[in-house]
Amino acid sequence: MASSPLIATSLPQNQLTTASATATASATATASATATASFRNPPPEKLAVFIDNSHSVDEVLQIHAAILRHNLLIHPRYPVLNLKLHRAYASHGKIRHSLALFHQTIDPDLFLFTAAINTASINGLKDQAFLLYVQLLSSQINPNEFTFSSILKSCSTKSGKLIHTHVLKFGLGLDPYVATGLVDIYAKGGDVVSAQKVFDRMPERSLVSSTAMITCYAKQGNVEAARALFDRMCERDIVSWNVMIDGYSQHGFPSDALMLFQKLLADGKPKPDEITVVAALSACSQIGALETGRWIHVFVNSSRIRLNVKVCTALIDMYSKCGSLEEAVLVFNDTPRKDIVAWNAMITGYAMHGYSQDALRLFDEMQGITGLQPTDITFIGTLQACAHAGLVNEGIQIFESMGQEYGIKPKIEHYGCLVSLLGRAGQLKRAYEIIKNMNMEADSVLWSSVLGSCKLHGEFMLGKEIAEYLIGQNISNSGIYVLLSNIYALVGDYEGVAKVRNLMKEKGIVKEPGISTIEIDNKVHEFRAGDREHLKSKEIYTMLRKMSERIKSHGYVPNTNTVLHDLEETEKERSLQVHSERLAIAYGLISTKPGSPLKIFKNLRVCSDCHTVTKLISKITGRKIVMRDRNRFHHFSDGSCSCDDFW
Ligand code: ZN
Ligand code: ZN
Repeated sequence: MASSPLIATSLPQNQLTTASATATASATATASATATASFRNPPPEKLAVFIDNSHSVDEVLQIHAAILRHNLLIHPRYPVLNLKLHRAYASHGKIRHSLALFHQTIDPDLFLFTAAINTASINGLKDQAFLLYVQLLSSQINPNEFTFSSILKSCSTKSGKLIHTHVLKFGLGLDPYVATGLVDIYAKGGDVVSAQKVFDRMPERSLVSSTAMITCYAKQGNVEAARALFDRMCERDIVSWNVMIDGYSQHGFPSDALMLFQKLLADGKPKPDEITVVAALSACSQIGALETGRWIHVFVNSSRIRLNVKVCTALIDMYSKCGSLEEAVLVFNDTPRKDIVAWNAMITGYAMHGYSQDALRLFDEMQGITGLQPTDITFIGTLQACAHAGLVNEGIQIFESMGQEYGIKPKIEHYGCLVSLLGRAGQLKRAYEIIKNMNMEADSVLWSSVLGSCKLHGEFMLGKEIAEYLIGQNISNSGIYVLLSNIYALVGDYEGVAKVRNLMKEKGIVKEPGISTIEIDNKVHEFRAGDREHLKSKEIYTMLRKMSERIKSHGYVPNTNTVLHDLEETEKERSLQVHSERLAIAYGLISTKPGSPLKIFKNLRVCSDCHTVTKLISKITGRKIVMRDRNRFHHFSDGSCSCDDFW
């Protein structure tokens, strides 16, 4: 290494540790190449100013060398210079240099200790931060509020509790920075009670502490409390808006999330960022608000928000969940530096829409081109693709490869796909065996999948056997009870039906109401079975009757055998006729131009009768109808459905 005589001759070697030697050696190597003369040789009295004005690591290294050269390590001003050097190295990302500097300091003072703890904390070196904190205490130096707010950045809820006792011991519990740090730690750990206690005692609530508290409420799903605090804040930044919008979106209040997003735009500031649009797009995909989602896409393009991989993934997810797979593919193709999450979104999108071959092609492409390793989510998408296309052998092979090739332990969702795959192929006994032999407890999704297949394939005896078993279990999912009662009804076992009904009554289980939505002119309209709430109710029911006549002339016979058995036939027919998805379709028919496609969203699985009816409506009206139910997408066109009548 070529050494600069400037530094090499005057280094006080005995005061250097190895790490600092590295720093000085780099200084030596780079000094001559990039330095300006003034940084190379600053006057001793100007050193502090030079450190403050340094723009690069090279400059800091040269000043460091000068300090050593002027032998200022024993100068009374050295602690200040040392602290400034420490901060300068840290601000240029040279964490090792800055910590090495600390370790070579004899008798570091509180300020240097605090700076070092802060550097370690914000750079994720939690153990180092704690070691420094302990070292500080054993040096008989009392920590101050900055020390605490620095060490708190390294704390978990558990270690935070310990530090909290120190905070109280040193009488710093009311300091706004320390209290904010404590609220943040309790909030992150989901300890709402402790967070609340600290927060309530704060004499002054900062923006950061209020936002931490909102995060805490939102994490618990307590969106009311979060919103109340949000509304009380006199100052809000984009972080607080994001926490609130995302809180709504993640906890089943997508419409509120979108309303708040609109309020943010109407307010004009702060400006939304990537996180805001990702949360808003997620809300769109939950309620199928395609028009709103498209609008957000345009908004992103026309604003300063970067179309990074996270935003693109949210768009892919929104477009595919809102029924527009074509647009999802366009975004995917334009996504820069696709990560595994982006690939997963597209694979899942293809699978949901029944484009199984495309999903499997992408699964291979992803590994071949990018070398990315599939995750458990990738396998859910891929297995769903196999299940939706009835690719039994491929599905089983992929399921087995998870553990054997990729070391991924199957979760309940993967078993769910496998069971649904076997169920579709009519291999019900095998599916039942797999459920019984799993090393985890089956959930209601799994059971409804296998029971649904029993119903579909007319395997009523096996269905009954499973039903008897499940009745003995303590199951609270209403969907399973409905399936049980359907299976009993199908085999004509009305005692069984009564038994299930009584059980539901006893346990207070209510059938989850079916809700269908359709978006017209940027507004999402919601329908429940038999609903007459809508303003256009009269026209909707007239359209229903008209459609009913027309489909009957196309040979439609209502499939009433799954409707509650004690209703009269005409009653049964009527109750089918007013299923929520049909109300939504009828509203779509009267509110859009002839021939334009309709997109319907249903929270439960579409029933087989509505499926048949929708196929016929697509034929009669010449419209494409896309329906997303709990399980997948159905693309109805000219009298048939993309699911080939299996879902
Ligand atoms: Zn129906
Ligand atoms: Zn279908």
